[in-house]
Amino acid sequence: MSRRISERRPTLSPLNRRQFLSGAAAVVGAAGIRYPIWALPGPSSAGNLLLGVDYYPDQTPESLWDEDSRMMAEFGFTNVRIAEFAWGLMEPAEGKFDFAWLHRAVETLHKYNISIILGTPSAAPPPWLMVKYPDVVEVNEKGEPLHPGGRRFTCPTNQVYRRLSLIIASAMAREFAETPGVIGWQIDNELTLGSSPRCYCNFCQAGFQTWLRSRYGSLDNLNKSWGTVFWSQTYTDFSQIPVPLPSGGDPNPGLALDYDRYQSYANVSFQDEQLVMLRKTCPRHFVTTNNVGLPLDTIDLRSLYEKLDFVAFDNYPGFFEMLLHQESNSPISPDTIPANIALGHDFARSLKGGKPFMIMEEQSGKAGQRSFSPQPEKGQVRLWTHQAVAHGAMGVNYFRWDTATFGAEEYWHGILNHDRSRSPGYNEIKQAVKELKGLGPEVLNSSYAADAALVFDYDCSWAVKIQPGNFALSYMAQVTSWYGAMSASHTGIDVITPGADLAAYKIVFAPVVYVLSEAQAARIRSFVQGGGMFVTNFRLGVKTETSQMVRTPLPGLLRDVMGVTVADYVPIYSAKQGVKFSPTLAGADGQCGLWADILQPSGAEVLGSYTNGEHAGEAAVTMNSFGKGKAIYIGGDLDAASLSRVLRALAASAGVKRPFDVPAGVELTVRKSGDKQWIFLLNHTSVAQTVGLTTAFTDLLTKEAQSGTIELSGYGVKVLQASV
Ligand SMILES: [Zn+2]
Repeated sequence: MSRRISERRPTLSPLNRRQFLSGAAAVVGAAGIRYPIWALPGPSSAGNLLLGVDYYPDQTPESLWDEDSRMMAEFGFTNVRIAEFAWGLMEPAEGKFDFAWLHRAVETLHKYNISIILGTPSAAPPPWLMVKYPDVVEVNEKGEPLHPGGRRFTCPTNQVYRRLSLIIASAMAREFAETPGVIGWQIDNELTLGSSPRCYCNFCQAGFQTWLRSRYGSLDNLNKSWGTVFWSQTYTDFSQIPVPLPSGGDPNPGLALDYDRYQSYANVSFQDEQLVMLRKTCPRHFVTTNNVGLPLDTIDLRSLYEKLDFVAFDNYPGFFEMLLHQESNSPISPDTIPANIALGHDFARSLKGGKPFMIMEEQSGKAGQRSFSPQPEKGQVRLWTHQAVAHGAMGVNYFRWDTATFGAEEYWHGILNHDRSRSPGYNEIKQAVKELKGLGPEVLNSSYAADAALVFDYDCSWAVKIQPGNFALSYMAQVTSWYGAMSASHTGIDVITPGADLAAYKIVFAPVVYVLSEAQAARIRSFVQGGGMFVTNFRLGVKTETSQMVRTPLPGLLRDVMGVTVADYVPIYSAKQGVKFSPTLAGADGQCGLWADILQPSGAEVLGSYTNGEHAGEAAVTMNSFGKGKAIYIGGDLDAASLSRVLRALAASAGVKRPFDVPAGVELTVRKSGDKQWIFLLNHTSVAQTVGLTTAFTDLLTKEAQSGTIELSGYGVKVLQASV
């Protein structure tokens, strides 16, 4: 699917990029321009680190810019991100540009050696645009148009909006391509985050029809792939194909899944138009975009970041916790915040095959709008900063410098309060920046060590949302609970998407593989054959890529690899199904909620059996030897404690190890560079914890020797390097 999509998008000339990378160092150095961190051949001086803050000169009196810049420099910041919501000031009327104010802001910042990341402003168009071009608004899933006055209310397909977005971004790029101090670009802002996740307007319908024509080639192929004979939906012209708006009955599952794919494609191609322009106009600058990542699944982020220089994410643990309290029926417990944040970081790192990522917005204080989170407890912002680095971040920008005194985000608190006094987090953030500079580029650009991988598949997420089977079944909740179960093992986990090379891992976890392509099935087969351990659960291989049911006994394409046949599949609504484990997985009996696949082994060993009702005694968990590896099928939706025990036991049997044990509430990660290794210890609890070390280390944050039993203060952090 994604291969076909990427073939359709505009492509860059890799030759030009390589030419630049190989030849530009001398030119850039001679011109006195700071070399962007993404292009560096290896570890660099501390001056190239991205440790900054999000700044809004457009919202701050010009009389304060000099003082702000001086204070940022004294604070230790190396860079800012600016202008991503300043379209109205930069283009006050169509085709009339005013960049004088932005030049003055950039010059002021650069005077204090603060580098600048510029944001293109397409997330919030100005009022003149909306009056002249009212058709650019997004239409939500009920068929209602959104209205101007907020942000992210425009259609990703609309050619007029694309043209106007490209015009302002191009004007910015031409204006600042050679301006000293400018080092890179953020395209748009949080493309994944809107009040309604997808657009259903007439332009999107036409765009969808064009995309389908390219994807399927013929109507005959499309009609067969979707099974449109059902409910008399056979299309005789592409222009007849609707979008999945309310229609008195559920849409065709194939159409609905393709519409989610199309909306993702539309956003990626919207971004790519600006990217192609920026590559051409500003070849010396890096280009990225920022997102909030999981649990939002509106855009396939692997496609979105494919051609960008590095991944950038926004990270608000306290705000996320407040949202969980607000959504009382959320399947995610607030207790699991540290693991959920870690999942986001691991996903960010894995999107570009392990390349270090950047936090473009890090929570610095009370965060939110109508409701906001409390001030993070003392030590938490520093802890969150180090947690990002522990999982592979190379840089952090804090949101934001001063707190707005007007507008919808007055309560997103910054490093300065509304009255410009220092926020409660001021000194702590200053300390964290100093510590990251002290760690230096080698640590910040090191790789993350992971023997295990967890698969996240957008097709499965979208298809399960369209037909959950049990209304309470959520793909995202399954992924987060599996990650949470493994997180407690303190072993490195990459969060990979289908198509990733599995050979690098000892064990691969893949919950609810509802849609399974032949290519992905072949990769899994080859991984197990070669000696890997593959662990999956219910609903495996149910659907083809076009969202038709497979015509073979489940689990379809992987029946021989798993060594089982699914005799029946059972959504669970009331009494939970019990599970008794075999000696191989010895432990207390478990319970299954939501779902049970009843397994019939054809060669697989039974590791657990159901204990209730008509399926009592039938297989619930199986393990099959296939080639040199093992394939494990967990048929039921196991309770959290049993799932954690089972996954960790399987990981241990696959040879996954951690450097040493740590108590509950403490996180441990490992980053590596060559033969060097750094262990991050992060205490997510408010009380001191003790950790027993197995060898002698140096804490790089304090330069103190560490051995034997050490104490980690509440919300404390240590970065340990083995003493030589
Ligand atoms: Zn639209």
